[in-house]
Amino acid sequence: MFKSLFIIYKLEGFIFKMNDKQPIYILPENTERTIGRDAQRNNILAAKLVAEAIKTTLGPKGMDKMLVDAVGDITITNDGVTILEKMEIEHPAAKMMVEISKTQEEEVGDGTTTAVMLAGKLLENAEKLLDMKIHPTIITKGYTLAAEKARELLEELSIKVTPEREDVLKSIVITAMTGKGAEYVKEKFADIIVEAVRQVQENDAVDISNIKIVKNKSEGIEDTRLIRGIIVDKERVSIDMPKKVENARVALLSESLELKNPTEAKISITTTNQLQEFIDREESLLKEMVKKIKNAGANVIFCQKGIDDLVQYYLGKEKLYACRRVTRTDMENLSKATGAKIVTNLNELSVNDLGKAEIVEEIKHGEEARTYVQGCENPKSITIVIHGGSEHVMDEMERAIKDGLGDIAAVIKDKKIVAGAGAIEISLSKRLREFSTSLSGREQLAVQEFANALEFIPSTLAENAGLDPIDILTELKARHDKGEKFAGINIFTNKIEDSLEAGIIEPLRIKKQAISSATEVATMILRIDDVLASKQNKEQKGTGLGYQGME
Ligand code: ADP
Ligand code: MG
Repeated sequence: MFKSLFIIYKLEGFIFKMNDKQPIYILPENTERTIGRDAQRNNILAAKLVAEAIKTTLGPKGMDKMLVDAVGDITITNDGVTILEKMEIEHPAAKMMVEISKTQEEEVGDGTTTAVMLAGKLLENAEKLLDMKIHPTIITKGYTLAAEKARELLEELSIKVTPEREDVLKSIVITAMTGKGAEYVKEKFADIIVEAVRQVQENDAVDISNIKIVKNKSEGIEDTRLIRGIIVDKERVSIDMPKKVENARVALLSESLELKNPTEAKISITTTNQLQEFIDREESLLKEMVKKIKNAGANVIFCQKGIDDLVQYYLGKEKLYACRRVTRTDMENLSKATGAKIVTNLNELSVNDLGKAEIVEEIKHGEEARTYVQGCENPKSITIVIHGGSEHVMDEMERAIKDGLGDIAAVIKDKKIVAGAGAIEISLSKRLREFSTSLSGREQLAVQEFANALEFIPSTLAENAGLDPIDILTELKARHDKGEKFAGINIFTNKIEDSLEAGIIEPLRIKKQAISSATEVATMILRIDDVLASKQNKEQKGTGLGYQGME
């Protein structure tokens, strides 16, 4: 009773009273509506909470988060997008913030924390403007103008690099990986990542999906290495086969090594002789398959489908190595790595279709055995094998490596970098403030708030390192005013230094994407002045961040 009265009250705007007693509902009875200021403030609060939640993970001294899901699985991470994905956020506006980090991850592969923090700060600052009775459309217009200008300025402030320079690429990887638990092996990881990217690079394009990451629970992370080839999650089909084949000549077969099932044909066998003949014929057909493989010169076979027991037996007898039911992706990767062609019909298999690898070997890890195809001549698909004592450590390493890979791919493509450690944000902020003076009207204030929001990055980098954010910001600004446009806060020395000289550099693309997506979501949230939530949504709601819902 009370509940429905409450809802009628909330739905005021949607109820038309025909007469005093009979209201007409145009929405389901249990819809809850929040309008105007309340809707805006709630959304801003939720977005702010999301940004607040991941703020402590930013930068080299950022902390990690431990997330435990409903079944007790644990993730320990410093990675913005992973934290937000695992948090199972329900609030609609907070969910939009999660989307930014996903877009950032897909587009660049790094900079997820930065993007979300910027969006949160843009909204927080917009609240100040709303308090000054500035209309949301003015704020969004100002923000959009500022973002456009920022992108332009980013181009101007970026530095052209030649991706041939190993030191530049290594610095980028190290900047991306610092603070991700790979501290004492970062040089080695940087070498591995740079070599991996170089190997699969085709002109200016790098398809990261050609770099496979495999985890090996065993030794410490310092044993992580690059394999010029592929690891297939399959063991050899028969123990009669050799465990290791050197100078492998690899055949890739997409059809099965079995006899086609004669489902339709009727075979009438009346005498034992006939039966024996039939068996013999089948056997000779299967034997023929092995002969064809051998004649083509192959000593290793990866088959996408099944392999008949008898074929397995004959292959073993011939000392050939074979794996069956290899996934399509692995087949494609094997093809890129060894140069072998995937053959659909065994009759067509010839020496020209074979690929090469120095060694094909079955290696056991605990219970599981895998096939390592190593030492490929010019592999266009390769594997990074992460070693580590625990799943959690290896998972976090994988995320760090992926950030590094994404960053290098971006630099190889765009050939442009910016100064990290907050330098680029301060440069942008300073220039946006100058730009704001060229504008008339209240948009000017919005552009200024945009400029202020950018300072959130260096101030958080400092705060997370235990430094005084206000002191650092003041000094950074002063140094930039003096013309030191690459001055940033180096978190290793805790001093303000030239970020380029300190090798703290990032791809231009990260910052461009972060600004675009943060502005997009902030303006989208600001435009909302009416939230209609069905009750089902409301019951599931709760950001897990102390957000109390919309009533
Ligand atoms: P994101 O998810 O946004 O990439 P990170 O936790 O990876 O967040 O932190 C990236 C930020 O850390 C960037 O602003 C980068 O410039 C900064 N950074 C990296 N290395 C250093 C360093 N040595 N000193 C100061 N800042 C650094
Ligand atoms: Mg990063």
